[in-house]
Amino acid sequence: MIGIIFIAPPAAGKGTQSDMICQKYGFIHVSTGDLLREASKQDNLEALYIQEEMEAGKLIDDGLIMDLLINKLSIINNSGFILDGFPRNLSQAHMFEETINKLNIKQLLVFYIDVPFDVALKRTLGRLICSKCNHVYNSSIKDLMPASLYHCDDCKSPLSKRIDDTEDTFTKRFNFYISETKPLVDYYSKQGVLYRVDGNKDKNNIFMQIDGILNRYLS
Ligand code: AMP
Repeated sequence: MIGIIFIAPPAAGKGTQSDMICQKYGFIHVSTGDLLREASKQDNLEALYIQEEMEAGKLIDDGLIMDLLINKLSIINNSGFILDGFPRNLSQAHMFEETINKLNIKQLLVFYIDVPFDVALKRTLGRLICSKCNHVYNSSIKDLMPASLYHCDDCKSPLSKRIDDTEDTFTKRFNFYISETKPLVDYYSKQGVLYRVDGNKDKNNIFMQIDGILNRYLS
């Protein structure tokens, strides 16, 4: 089984690239942000905690993330999966080492999508998400624009903005990314599994860069 990890700032296009890889190769897309958004809809204290931390742009407790993730990964019986939004820090990366062995992951590939602050901010402010199928659109990027700003092209459900897609929360999340997540570039680079991708391009160009590398491992 192949496992793909993305290291990227918020709104770098991890979700879009994950969808494109899944469509081509049938991989399973596992987004910790989506798992948390789902868990935050429950009627309990944990849901409240998740809502508050996400809204503030803070990271959720590592133990809770690992529980959600391992639950999800244990039901995957597939040739490959993509982790979108995990690991977010070195401690999660260390915890994940154990899971790699347990799940018999033969190859880990890490794509570092490099995007400058101002580009990521613009994408964040334009992001729209389908409330039902989670399809991600963007009102400020031509090739990600929905036909209507109000409804999903695929399932016609209403589009909405994420509560954490404000300039203030974005800035906090970007700063967390620099201090907590970016050190993973060094961590995975030392393991020889890291590939840098220029994320300041359109979605097809970014996909071409990723696919070129993936092909080497899949053929
Ligand atoms: P994302 O959908 O990946 O942009 O994540 C949205 C928010 O969910 C983040 O700003 C964090 O509050 C939380 N989150 C997602 N993944 C993780 C993770 N691996 N560890 C801690 N918090 C996370």
